Amino acid sequence: MAVPLQVQLIEAFGAGVYALTLASHADLWWRRREQRSHAWLALSAFGALLVNLTGAAIRVAPAAYATALLGLNMLGVAVALISLYELAEAIGGKRPGRLARAMEAATLVPILLLPVLPHAVLLAALYLTGVLFLLAAMFRAARHARSGDPESHVIALGLTFLFTTLLYDILSEMQVLVRVEGMPVLGFTVLYLAAARALSLRYEREHRELLELRGKLETRVQQRTTELEAANQRLEQLSRTDALTGLANRRCFVEAAAAYLRASPARLLMIDIDHFKRINDTHGHETGDAALRAVADALGRGLRSGELLARWGGEEFIALLEDADDASARAERMRAAVAATCVQSGDAALRLSASFGLARVARGGALDAAIARADEALYRAKREGRDRVVTDTAGSDAG
Ligand code: GH3
Ligand code: MG
Ligand code: MG
Repeated sequence: MAVPLQVQLIEAFGAGVYALTLASHADLWWRRREQRSHAWLALSAFGALLVNLTGAAIRVAPAAYATALLGLNMLGVAVALISLYELAEAIGGKRPGRLARAMEAATLVPILLLPVLPHAVLLAALYLTGVLFLLAAMFRAARHARSGDPESHVIALGLTFLFTTLLYDILSEMQVLVRVEGMPVLGFTVLYLAAARALSLRYEREHRELLELRGKLETRVQQRTTELEAANQRLEQLSRTDALTGLANRRCFVEAAAAYLRASPARLLMIDIDHFKRINDTHGHETGDAALRAVADALGRGLRSGELLARWGGEEFIALLEDADDASARAERMRAAVAATCVQSGDAALRLSASFGLARVARGGALDAAIARADEALYRAKREGRDRVVTDTAGSDAG
């Protein structure tokens, strides 16, 4: 029987759609194994292609191959429809239960019985189970759609369309409805387009979620970096500060003074509180601490901008003043400020005093040597009766 050109064209179109669907989804599945929907779409298209090709072959092949070709044709039908059921589950993020898997395997039984039972009965059995699987797939997709999966909604619509075209085809074969060629091809084509749409919707959604997540992550990293920078700054500040007086500590002073001396000469001032041990011993450690803070404040008030003051250790302080002729007079004013300082201890107001050693340092001069000279002057001040400023007379070191 000659096949009308129109039917041949529809078959060729179908073969093209199935082959393209098979190739593209197999390729996508190869790249994204976790997205099982691609595998089931590829397998379904493979089944449809098998039905298409064996259907054409049956018409032209010798009778000896008829059973084998029919077997392949039925295998194609089973694979195409079972894959659609699997697709409906996979797109909803589910897997078929054991019973469903057993029923899928049972669909293949009529094919094995081809050599022994009448073909018409087996074909009817296969079509019946095929239609049932399609109905089950529609039902599952609709369920996933109702539980909030928008992509399953698109698949459910596609499956419903395919079901309608297949039903029309069966009814028109039974001459209940007017024969329209190519209904299954139309149904499968629309379903595969719907599946492509559903998956592109899913990837779009995943991409959006990923971008949102990246944005949140970037904000969080930024936040953490800012916090870390602030913590580092606090730590750096703490590592350079004397906790009791709030002045710079020895390490900080040495660094800053070295930098200062690289650019300019200076006057170095060593300061030691007089008879401090007695304050501690008589009035307690807390009063001693308050005295240290009071002296630090008094000394700080005597500084000009850019000059340095630090707690050298214990009850000793160190300052770097401008190299000016009034340095001795300023040291004297700082001494007087300390001497004018009172520290409250209970009802008593304690008076404090400190001894000062002053030494000049040339630009680029060694800090250690200058400290030694200022220290020497300071101890002379102690020996000479305390509460005074003594200037180093050895002059500045070379430099
Ligand atoms: P001089 O006039 O010869 O300098 O006598 P002094 O008592 O001031 O000197 P000495 O070196 O004998 O005593 C220093 C004391 O400073 C001893 C120590 O307990 C005390 N001291 C050191 N650091 C602190 C501190 O952070 N807080 C208190 N309250 N006392 C401290
Ligand atoms: Mg001391
Ligand atoms: Mg002292």
